[in-house]
Amino acid sequence: FKKIKRDTKSNDELDKMANTFNNMMDLLEENYKKQEQFVSDASHELKTPLTVVESYANMLKRWGMKRPDILEEAIEAIHSEAIRMKQLTEQMLLLAKGDEQWEMHIEEVDISLVCSDTAKHLQFAFKRTISIDVQTNNPIIRADEKKVKQLLYILVDNAIKYSEKSIDITITRRASSLFIAIRDYGIGIPKENLAHVYERFFRVDKARTRETGGTGLGLPIATRIVAAHNGKIHMDSEEGQGTTVTIELPL
Ligand code: ADP
Repeated sequence: FKKIKRDTKSNDELDKMANTFNNMMDLLEENYKKQEQFVSDASHELKTPLTVVESYANMLKRWGMKRPDILEEAIEAIHSEAIRMKQLTEQMLLLAKGDEQWEMHIEEVDISLVCSDTAKHLQFAFKRTISIDVQTNNPIIRADEKKVKQLLYILVDNAIKYSEKSIDITITRRASSLFIAIRDYGIGIPKENLAHVYERFFRVDKARTRETGGTGLGLPIATRIVAAHNGKIHMDSEEGQGTTVTIELPL
């Protein structure tokens, strides 16, 4: 990323052009570094499940066929690591798509229905109480239903992963926006980490989130979906008290 060096302190057209060129180079370099970091983080994330699969496959080759206990443990581990790798690659592919490749299918969407569908599925899978309080008689906006469903799924799934109690979803409508707040009463996020949770692969506690199946790509995808709707995402959190994620979607 070579830049143009100009000795003169003058402010002629050539200097202006050199400045513009140098600014473009800075931007390119920044993007290139981000891409490089993403590839390096992604490879690292995939290496762990691959190592687990490799070592269990080795174990199977040596003893597995004669030892039903090893056979069962190995199949279980290989299966869950394969699911993890599939989820990771699907999320990475989604994030790697440029804005122009993010096709939006905008239609009228009843947000209260999207919330109750998501709650119903996750409630059933995780045996957790999820309450929905609709404080408006018009929870309908123009949005991409599939993407909003994915957004809700990520946020409610996080609330489940990082708390053990019930979860409250509130839908309100103010001025020209619809607000969805997802509140949990779980472990919360330390203040110094709050600004970083939107970064790719960031996790407050890597060991713990591996146990819960976290990838560190949920919130980056959520942020991207919100931005695609010209909305805003905001998180309030207190360690040991819980977290509230608020989504603002313009009507
Ligand atoms: P992950 O797949 O690890 O959950 P996310 O991108 O969704 O990835 O979240 C990034 C990190 O932010 C999580 O690993 C977790 O440490 C923290 N986090 C997200 N949501 C919550 C929440 N509701 N309560 C506590 N911590 C959270």
